[in-house]
Amino acid sequence: MVKWSELSLGRFKILATRLTQCELQEVTENDTELKKEVAIHAMTNNTTDYLMNYFSDWTKLLRATAWLIRFKFYCRQRYLNHQVQCRTGDLTLSELKIASNVILVNVQSTYFKDEIIKLKKDTPVKKDSRIASLNPVLDNELIRAKGRLSTSNHDEYPIILPDNHHVTSLIVRFYHENQGHVGRQQVLAATRMKYWILKGPSLVKKVIGCCIPCKRQHRPLCVQQMAPLLDEQIIADKPPFTFVGIDYFGPLLRRWWKQVQYLANVFWRRWIREYLPTLQMRPKWQRPNTDIRKGDIVLVAEVNVQRGQWPLGRVTEVKVGRDGHVRSCVVKTHKSELVRPITKLCLLEGSDL
Ligand SMILES: [Zn+2]
Repeated sequence: MVKWSELSLGRFKILATRLTQCELQEVTENDTELKKEVAIHAMTNNTTDYLMNYFSDWTKLLRATAWLIRFKFYCRQRYLNHQVQCRTGDLTLSELKIASNVILVNVQSTYFKDEIIKLKKDTPVKKDSRIASLNPVLDNELIRAKGRLSTSNHDEYPIILPDNHHVTSLIVRFYHENQGHVGRQQVLAATRMKYWILKGPSLVKKVIGCCIPCKRQHRPLCVQQMAPLLDEQIIADKPPFTFVGIDYFGPLLRRWWKQVQYLANVFWRRWIREYLPTLQMRPKWQRPNTDIRKGDIVLVAEVNVQRGQWPLGRVTEVKVGRDGHVRSCVVKTHKSELVRPITKLCLLEGSDL
């Protein structure tokens, strides 16, 4: 691919038209002129939508959008034959801020269409709107939560974001990681300096719950409901030593053996009467947990090794107990293949995720 600053004017006109109209389509086989020069992949309705769903990191999304805006500006100037010097070098803070605004305006325009129409007409939003209680105001195309604050500087009002949008999750994750993988309250407090996220606490909880480094440090080892008691533990007519042949013993030992059987019977009666009823209860693990499955990513707990150094592995085989639950697994690590009980495994990522 050649540098975009070296494209011919004719090719730029094709590209610039598409960019300025936000109608980027997949480059077709016939579109050889453009295809040879610039690789542009299939877009959704507009470029920003595509970018927003493509990235899984807020900083990368910001930078990519900022580069695209600079590129779009350059294309437009070339298309209009303006002799404007294009900015080169690293992105500036103001470019990143513009990119952030472009993304957030796009997110809000998808989720708060009716509210934006109302606010543009300077009328209050509907009473049943999700943001009605936040006393929203429109400032530079961004909806902000005025709430009970009163200040002339609208930048101090937090920007309202929906909880069920990919970009909002990226922002929450950015704050969580940037602050050193801190807990819910601290992440929420940090985001509220700039944003007001609808149902913020539950979104923060969800994002932290999916954080792999946090799972590696804090997620408990797997447990499963205990298996039912064995028949031999609960059926009275099968006490220990019932089927042991005594013919191997000589006559001198028979008396001794009868004594053993007597003691075993006493033990067994007391077992049935006094101890077995206490096993009826399930004080822990009252409900069955989801079983580990083939393909799951797990940490393998090792004695005398710090948790941060437990090896990562993929489950290649599961071994099911007589109650139908997985009790142990074959795990492939970067060094070897191990068989481990589930109580020595920590589930990080399910294979279905
Ligand atoms: Zn984390």
